[in-house]
Amino acid sequence: MDEKKFSIDMREILSGEVGKLYKYKLSGHLSSEDEIKYISPVIVKLDIVNIDKTINAKGNIETEIELICSRCGRGFNRHIDLQFERIFEEDLDADDVLSSDGIVDFEPIVREEIILSLPIQILCKKNCRGLLR
Ligand SMILES: [Zn+2]
Repeated sequence: MDEKKFSIDMREILSGEVGKLYKYKLSGHLSSEDEIKYISPVIVKLDIVNIDKTINAKGNIETEIELICSRCGRGFNRHIDLQFERIFEEDLDADDVLSSDGIVDFEPIVREEIILSLPIQILCKKNCRGLLR
């Protein structure tokens, strides 16, 4: 099993030219978690720039997930296509800490961004009337 499919080694970028753009495309399957079922591979495109000891990552996440409607309990598919931006710093108080090995695993970030993109109440359609009896 390839567990590191969403990891990027930032050491080369950190020791490289400030402001240089590095492009990455990562993809792989994610196991289902947090009531989200991933039904197609997750594709993550990243634009990464070293801004003087911090790493700025702008990304795009694309995949297809299956959700459960909170009103009628039916499963339905949703296409995910979202943008995100993260700044990794060596400062331990930062939101996204750049660990000393320079490896950033984007998998938990991808999962978090997908969850954040979902509405609080998950409905299969706006006017879902629930289970009709
Ligand atoms: Zn529904």
